[in-house]
Amino acid sequence: MKIFLDGKFVDEADAKVSVFDHGLLYGDGVFEGIRLYAGNVFRLEEHLERLEYSAKAILLTLPMTRSELRDATCETCRVNGLRDAYIRLVVTRGVGDLGLAPWSCPKPTVFIIAGKISIYPQEYYDNGLAIVTVPTRRIGPAALPPTVKSLNYLNNILGKIEARQAGALEAIMLNDQGHVAECTADNVFIVHKGELFTPSASHGALKGITRGAILDIAAELGLPIREAALTRYDLWCADECFLTGTGAEVIPVVKLDGREIGTGKPGPITARILAAFRRRASAEGTRI
Ligand code: PMP
Repeated sequence: MKIFLDGKFVDEADAKVSVFDHGLLYGDGVFEGIRLYAGNVFRLEEHLERLEYSAKAILLTLPMTRSELRDATCETCRVNGLRDAYIRLVVTRGVGDLGLAPWSCPKPTVFIIAGKISIYPQEYYDNGLAIVTVPTRRIGPAALPPTVKSLNYLNNILGKIEARQAGALEAIMLNDQGHVAECTADNVFIVHKGELFTPSASHGALKGITRGAILDIAAELGLPIREAALTRYDLWCADECFLTGTGAEVIPVVKLDGREIGTGKPGPITARILAAFRRRASAEGTRI
């Protein structure tokens, strides 16, 4: 596998960054997780825009332009002969001294990995996920805006560990006010009386690219959709619930904290949305 690293393609074994890189020392950096479907990169411009906003929010000047990043992303897929892949694009603050001051880092590090995607087994798409609410709260917008897709994932990792300790693959994370924010690496939606609801960024949700695609699909299918403050009650009483993410796409949730959601089976609106998403994923995108 060839990795794009600071302007060059190198073998996997040579794709190394310094132990003085602040991405490693402090989680100081930003990233994107992107999908390649049948030779088309899904919503590449949206991913690059989110990367630019994440970088801007942490005062990190990207060392490559939009078009250089676009070309490098596509080229990484091409040189590896990939048609379907998961792409990880990372920009760290770069190499600096041991203090946390980012101004000791003159040059950000950029790398792009395109490889296999690990997705949920098919049985979870067929039967739905049973998830739990975890005690660790999602970091609030006033501390580290969840809209910044940064290399600081410890908050989500604690949530993921707590989910596993409770025997679940994903977790609902609440914000400081007790509203539903998102999952550890996915956005959450509910369906109630034919309407879709999802938490807004101000409630602690990342503006997921898949979430954005679902907003478009809902409009196309004529389903009303609202960003709203949701509590666990809203999930308990929902007719359907599903999660969205670049890796997961659209995956039904049938249980929260041992309680059945709706009929306890994946719902018809979730199925329509997943089908519409897969149609879009194979039809739209930037040809590599
Ligand atoms: N929330 C978090 C915390 C995430 O890390 C992700 C990405 N895996 C998502 C939501 C979903 O975003 P996207 O659809 O852009 O993958």
